[in-house]
Amino acid sequence: MSDLVFQDALKRLHRIGNQANVPEHVLAALSHPQATLSTNLCIRKDDGHLAYFKAYRCRYNDILGPTKGGIRYHQDVNQAEVEALALWMTLKCAVVSLPLGGGKGGITLDPKQLSPMELERLSRAYVRACADFIGPNTDIPAPDVYTNARIMGWMMDEYEKITRSKSPAVITGKPLALGGSLGRDSATGRGAYLCVKRLAKNLNLVPAQTTIAIQGFGNGGYFCAKLLQQDGFKIVALSDSKGAIYAENGLDIESVHQEKQRSNTLKAVYCEHSVCELIDHQKINNSELLELNVDILIPAALDGVITRDNAHDIKARYVVEIANGPVTSDADAILAQNEVTVIPDILANAGGVVVSYFEWLQNKQGEYWSLDKVHSQLAAKIELAFDAAWRLKNEDAISMRDAVYRIAFNRLTDAIEAHGTSDYFRQ
Ligand code: GLU
Repeated sequence: MSDLVFQDALKRLHRIGNQANVPEHVLAALSHPQATLSTNLCIRKDDGHLAYFKAYRCRYNDILGPTKGGIRYHQDVNQAEVEALALWMTLKCAVVSLPLGGGKGGITLDPKQLSPMELERLSRAYVRACADFIGPNTDIPAPDVYTNARIMGWMMDEYEKITRSKSPAVITGKPLALGGSLGRDSATGRGAYLCVKRLAKNLNLVPAQTTIAIQGFGNGGYFCAKLLQQDGFKIVALSDSKGAIYAENGLDIESVHQEKQRSNTLKAVYCEHSVCELIDHQKINNSELLELNVDILIPAALDGVITRDNAHDIKARYVVEIANGPVTSDADAILAQNEVTVIPDILANAGGVVVSYFEWLQNKQGEYWSLDKVHSQLAAKIELAFDAAWRLKNEDAISMRDAVYRIAFNRLTDAIEAHGTSDYFRQ
């Protein structure tokens, strides 16, 4: 991700904010991250050498509550990216009415180049650097791209050693045995699935006749694909960082996932127990996947994959953003012109942070919820937010992205102005 991503996020923020007459002081507050910690972590590699890694944690805006957001391990992580992602977390928590602000963190590294022990040392070093910056009532990290429950467990453990107290609510997305929540692993995918279901209901889409391409087969993409297939939707294409597969008659998500776990390659297979056979398919690349003639396109990998260069070639009628920031601000207008409906990231991928919030509540209460309760409370939050945005989109004849941003702006404006507006302070 380039440094320009934060500028692009601000461009969109101001475009939608100005059109909705959001007060200038609110847009100013949302354009300035409150605090970003930037540091270099040093660990000893397995071969004895010392290695250095750039790392960041941003508490973007805490007007609605303690800041919340994941930690990303990726070679393209930089401060601008972390700040853009933290701005989106601020808006995301507001859209789904969580009493939380927005934050984000990251380490610049290729996680595939580190051994498991090096990863543990690095994750613990991150917490040592950030221990005064994070906390259960100030800033609560979680997983993001290439981080997982095990890493969250190491981080919680390190935090508890430093503070000499039990503090499970300092981080979410933990292993169940360490205070994690049921349903957190599948929450991002489930949230996006609930959005697709709402979309299908509003537009009378018939699952068996609705084709879907998913770019990215990580945690969010996998769970979303699995739930959609269970409902009868036809997932015709999937990709990972190395390439994509397309099968006109649909892919069996569980089989592809099983094979990917086993061989770390994406293969169009159908498995009966442990015996897998290749099915009729074509190998394509990631950009071909984006341009497939399908009904729904789900970018579920990284940001900036639909830009002004390829937005004209998107043939899907609906785009559901599981990734953060997959469509650039220039591409918004092109997609709108071509009547592509985009369910934006800050709604479509909010399931993760919603269940993180439930995990934090459970940790604070020392009481654990059933999976049914997590699922029903998640559905209630996502459906409420989706329906409010859909109504606003229809009433004001605006895009779903604009509607969702307006809802976030309203909540943030109320909280910011509750401290007094300039009228109040004018003599
Ligand atoms: N990393 C996820 C996101 O981008 C989840 C954040 C969280 O659970 O705090 O929304």
